[in-house]
Amino acid sequence: MRLALFALALAVLAAPLVWRVSAPRPAGPVVDTVVLAERVAMLEVEVETLRDRLETLRSRPAPPADQGAAPLPAPGAPSGAGDFSGFGDLMLLSARREINKGLTLLGIRDLEAVFGQPSAELGQTCAQPTSQRLAGALETRDVGPFRARLVKPALDSLEQVLARVAEDYPDLYAELRTYGGFCARLIRGSADQISRHAFGVAVDVSVGGSIDPMGDGKTQFGLIVLSDYFTEAGWIWGAGFGREDSMHFEVSAELFRRWRDEGLI
Ligand SMILES: [Zn+2]
Repeated sequence: MRLALFALALAVLAAPLVWRVSAPRPAGPVVDTVVLAERVAMLEVEVETLRDRLETLRSRPAPPADQGAAPLPAPGAPSGAGDFSGFGDLMLLSARREINKGLTLLGIRDLEAVFGQPSAELGQTCAQPTSQRLAGALETRDVGPFRARLVKPALDSLEQVLARVAEDYPDLYAELRTYGGFCARLIRGSADQISRHAFGVAVDVSVGGSIDPMGDGKTQFGLIVLSDYFTEAGWIWGAGFGREDSMHFEVSAELFRRWRDEGLI
C-alpha cells in the first residue's frame, strides 16, 4: 500500500516532465538560422550593455566638488597624478558650436538610400533589423575596451580610434565602456525621427564608470580627450548638438561617402 502510494506520488510529480519530453513539436515554418543568429548576437550585446550600465550605476562616484577645468595630463601619464581629478569629471564646454567644424551630419536619407528602412517596427526601444542589407552589414566585435555592434567599416574605424587612445592615454582607455551601439529605434522623445543608432553608425561611450548626463552643456573630461581622436577619424561628436549629447559619436557624411566610394558599404 505504502509502495503504491509512493509510485502514485512519483507519477504525479513526473507527469509534467514526461508530458514536456513527449509532447510533439508544433508544426510551423522553419526558423531562419540567419535571423536567429542575428537575434542571439543582438541579445548578447544587449546583455553586455546592460551589464555595463549596471556596473556604471554601481560605481557612480559622488559629484566632484570642484568642476573647474583640469589641466590635460601628458599622454601616458597616470590619471591620478598631480592635481588632475579624473576622466569622469564633468566640465563646462566653451564654444560648443565650434565642435565638429569641417564635418557634416550624415543624412537619414543617405542612410536609407543604402540600407532602406532599418526596421519595420521603429519605436522607443531597440527593434530587430528587418533590412537584409543592414543585417548583413552589421557585426558584433570586441574593439578593445568593450564589445560593440555596428556596421563593419564603423567598427574598423572605431578600433583604430581606440588603438590610438590606448597608446596615448592608457588610463582613459581602461575606463571606456559602451552605453550602446546599433539599436533600431527613433530618437529619444521623437515620434518620427530615426536615430543614427538604428543604422549602426553611432556609438555611446561612458567614461570612468559614469554616464555623461544629456543636455546639461557639460562634458566628461575623458570625452573631451576622446573627441579629438574621433573628430580626426571623421566622426561627429554629440557635444555639439543643439541638445548636448556628449557620450554620443556618429559617422559623418564625409566618412560615410568615403566608405561608399571605396565600396565598403
Ligand atoms: Zn547615442
